[in-house]
Amino acid sequence: MWNFDAHVHSADSDGTDTILELIQKAAAAGLSGFALTDHDYLAELSNAKLQAEAHGLLLVQGVEISTTFEGRSAHLLAYRPDPANRELRETLREIRSARATRLQRIVENVHSDFPQITWQRLLESIEEGGETVAPGRPHLADLLIAEGIVASRAEAFAGILNHAGPYFVPQWAPDPRDMVEMAVRAGAAPVLAHPLSQDRQKPLPERVIEEMAEAGLFGLERDHREHTAADREAVTRLANRLNLVTTGGSDYHGSGKPNLLGENTTDQETMELILAESEN
Ligand code: AMP
Ligand code: FE
Ligand code: FE
Ligand code: ZN
Repeated sequence: MWNFDAHVHSADSDGTDTILELIQKAAAAGLSGFALTDHDYLAELSNAKLQAEAHGLLLVQGVEISTTFEGRSAHLLAYRPDPANRELRETLREIRSARATRLQRIVENVHSDFPQITWQRLLESIEEGGETVAPGRPHLADLLIAEGIVASRAEAFAGILNHAGPYFVPQWAPDPRDMVEMAVRAGAAPVLAHPLSQDRQKPLPERVIEEMAEAGLFGLERDHREHTAADREAVTRLANRLNLVTTGGSDYHGSGKPNLLGENTTDQETMELILAESEN
C-alpha cells in the first residue's frame, strides 16, 4: 500500500528527530516514504537517500519556506529544488538570519518578565539539544520547559509565545508570490502548506493564492491536522478552480508536537506529478 508523508521536520529546523531517526521511524511505521521539509533549510541528503533506500523508502527533498503577506505568515512547501540554486540558497540564508534576529527580540521581551531567560541561555540550550540552523519559538519553548515555566511546547504557544501575546515579534520573510516564482526558477514544485489553518495568524486572502497560482504554484496542502473537514472541502474546491493538485502531510515535529508520522499522506498519482514537475 502506498502511504507517503509529504511534510516532515527534522532537528535541523524545529523537529526533535535526526534525519536518520526519521528514516528508521518511517520504516517502522510502514511508510512508502516521506518528504523532508525543514523550515528555510535544505540539508545535504545524498547519504540519507541511500539510507532511506536501504530501508525501502523514498526520501524526497523539500523545504518549507517562510513567507509573509501584509503581516500574515504563510508557509510554502517546495519539493525538489536544485540544492545548488544560488538565488534560493541565498534567500533561505537571509530568512534564517532574520529568524535569529527576531527570536533574540522575543527573548529580550520575555526576559523582562522572566529574568532567567536570556539569549545566551537559549544559544546554550540549542547547542545541548542538537544545533538547529533555523531557530524559532519552539526552541525558546524548550528553554521555558527546562526552566519549569511551562510544561510543554503547546502550553508555551498557547500563552507566553502566542502571536497575540505581549512578547511576540513578527518575523521578516519574503512575499509568497515571489517565493513561488523563485521556487519554480529553482526547478521545484511549490505547494502552499496548510492554507486554511486557523491555529496561526490569519490565512492568506484568496486573491493572493490566485496570484500564486498564476506565478506557478503547483498544489495546495489539503490533508493536515489544522484543517477541519470543511477546510478540506474548501481547499479541494479552490484547487479544482485553480487547477492545482492537493497533498497531505503530517507536519511531524518529533516529540515537539502531537502530530504523528504518516497521519496524513499524499496519494501516489499526485506524488508522481510532483516528481515529474520538479527536476532534481
Ligand atoms: P516561529 O517559527 O518562531 O514563528 O514558530 C512557529 C513554529 O512553532 C512552527 O513551525 C511550528 O513548528 C511550531 N508550533 C506552532 N504552534 C505550536 C504548538 N502549539 N506546539 C508546538 N509547536 C508549535
Ligand atoms: Fe515548525
Ligand atoms: Fe508550516
Ligand atoms: Zn511544517
